[in-house]
Amino acid sequence: MVIKNRGFDSLNRNKAMRILLVEDEKKIARFIERGLRANRYVVDIAYTGENGMELAEINPYDLIILDIMLPGKDGITICQELREYKVDAPILMLTAKSAVAEKVLALQSGADDYLVKPFSFEEFLARVAALLRRQRREKTSFLQIGDLVLDQVSHKVFKADKEIVLTPKEYSLLEYMMLNVDQVVTRVMISEHVWNEDFDSISNLIDVFIKHLRNKIDPTRDKQLIQTIRGVGYVLKSK
Ligand code: CA
Repeated sequence: MVIKNRGFDSLNRNKAMRILLVEDEKKIARFIERGLRANRYVVDIAYTGENGMELAEINPYDLIILDIMLPGKDGITICQELREYKVDAPILMLTAKSAVAEKVLALQSGADDYLVKPFSFEEFLARVAALLRRQRREKTSFLQIGDLVLDQVSHKVFKADKEIVLTPKEYSLLEYMMLNVDQVVTRVMISEHVWNEDFDSISNLIDVFIKHLRNKIDPTRDKQLIQTIRGVGYVLKSK
């Protein structure tokens, strides 16, 4: 297989895909959140439109999922205001009504797509992926260090043109380390960015996953790709 060889400077150094979910029904929010996290997305939740606006103004989201029926400001108004504030992340609107007028209103307010509740999670994920793909089509999708290549679109990893099969968590860990190449990432940073969890609850897991990752991407240890900085964390070395 042929991989475009680009200098690392030209690569997109953004963090993993980050999604804002604005949904007041906690059960639904929790369900969507879990599903998205299981699919390697970083998720923030706002239970009100106002909170959603605040978060969207502070953080650069790759996608915003916006429920229409919200207490206080509804999703249509929030969507219009986000666009007025030049928040240009793709917006996926969730609506409980299948009426055409509602869908038209959603799209007119600046949403890129909509989904009628109740929806199948498979379809939801497919739409999320499509919106993200559209968003990043222009961007470079490959991260490369030596002969190690990570494709951020297909989530595949190659070493010397041979595919290395990683679990979703291993992939996220490697992606995070490649985005921070030659910089020390602490175990706390890893727990927050890769696991979305407090450090205390998963501190033991990180070492295990680092070990798995080393075995897969650098089995002979001849390059010492991932180095341990004792008492601090790890660094993925480019040379
Ligand atoms: Ca709602």
